[in-house]
Amino acid sequence: MTFDQDIKKLITGNHQFKIKFFDSNNNIFNGLVEFGQKPKIMIITCSDSRIDPAMIFNCQLGELFVVRNIANLIPPYEDNDTYHGTSAALEFGTCFLDIKHIIILGHTQCGGIQSLIENTNQVLDKKNYSFVAKWMDLAKPAYDKVMAENSQATLEEKIILCEQLSLANSLKNLASFPWIQRHIVNHNLSLHAWYFDLATGIIHAHDQAINSWQAL
Ligand SMILES: [Zn+2]
Repeated sequence: MTFDQDIKKLITGNHQFKIKFFDSNNNIFNGLVEFGQKPKIMIITCSDSRIDPAMIFNCQLGELFVVRNIANLIPPYEDNDTYHGTSAALEFGTCFLDIKHIIILGHTQCGGIQSLIENTNQVLDKKNYSFVAKWMDLAKPAYDKVMAENSQATLEEKIILCEQLSLANSLKNLASFPWIQRHIVNHNLSLHAWYFDLATGIIHAHDQAINSWQAL
């Protein structure tokens, strides 16, 4: 097999991981293989390459059940016979792993939200790029609210507002799943919306009681 430089870098990285981390933490990995995964936390975050939940939260393998998608969006509960990737992960995490916290982790400079606000990006061209464009419809309520209530804000301010409002909207959609509601009541499941600042590394959490963002 021959590989280009990008793939060779990954292979070298894996060899280093094996020597420096895997081999010296055998007990952790043996436990994960023998007893399976038992994460308490589920994170839904963006596919953006600058976000890595395990790195951001200094977590080990087995601690986080993660699903990533464009702009960390949660669809509303829909009981129809089609393919629901994010909803399937939510169902598995909630009903089979019995996780105790679901965190929707958004971030600054989100390309998906930026495309919506700037409205110039060909990514949202539904004729040629139907999957991303359709998916980003999920952030439309946030977009509409920003445009209706903050039309005088700068472009940067609108993007931040839309990123944060979209998180609040996803939190609302998350609560629309019947088994999530059941687990909130019967299994102490908690839902959270957090916002990661790429420039500072600081995370803000949405405080629903006062509808504002607080640094953690
Ligand atoms: Zn993003």
